[in-house]
Amino acid sequence: MTYDPNNIFAKILRGEIPCNKVYEDEFALAFHDINPQAPVHVLVIPKGDYVSMADFTTSAPAELIAGFMRAVGAVAEELGLVESGYRTLANAGENAHQEVPHLHIHIFGGAPLGPMLDSRFTA
Ligand code: AMP
Repeated sequence: MTYDPNNIFAKILRGEIPCNKVYEDEFALAFHDINPQAPVHVLVIPKGDYVSMADFTTSAPAELIAGFMRAVGAVAEELGLVESGYRTLANAGENAHQEVPHLHIHIFGGAPLGPMLDSRFTA
């Protein structure tokens, strides 16, 4: 999939539209999801043009991959989620219903989160 520079997270990274920022460093930006699905729901995005985890891990420089993953950990820490626990999730492609074609890791927390997947697969 080709990267679309007009996707909404690219616009947030360029400062063209606002976000409710929780963390930023040279590798990543984190902000609250506009439609939260848990008491805490934050998105962490890498600073670079990557559609998905496969694209990112294939094409990004090692320093950015390391920096981005460190940022995910730092955000969870900063949000106070480490002791109580939290979930990270990255949707990729159609089966996962990826809506925004810029790699993002969801961080969910703030309450017990229930089963990891749809009950169709776990019954
Ligand atoms: P996904 O289905 O994994 O691509 O998730 C995309 C997420 O981006 C959804 O949870 C949306 O609520 C969220 N989202 C879309 N637009 C914005 C925005 N402008 N600011 C914050 N979150 C957004």
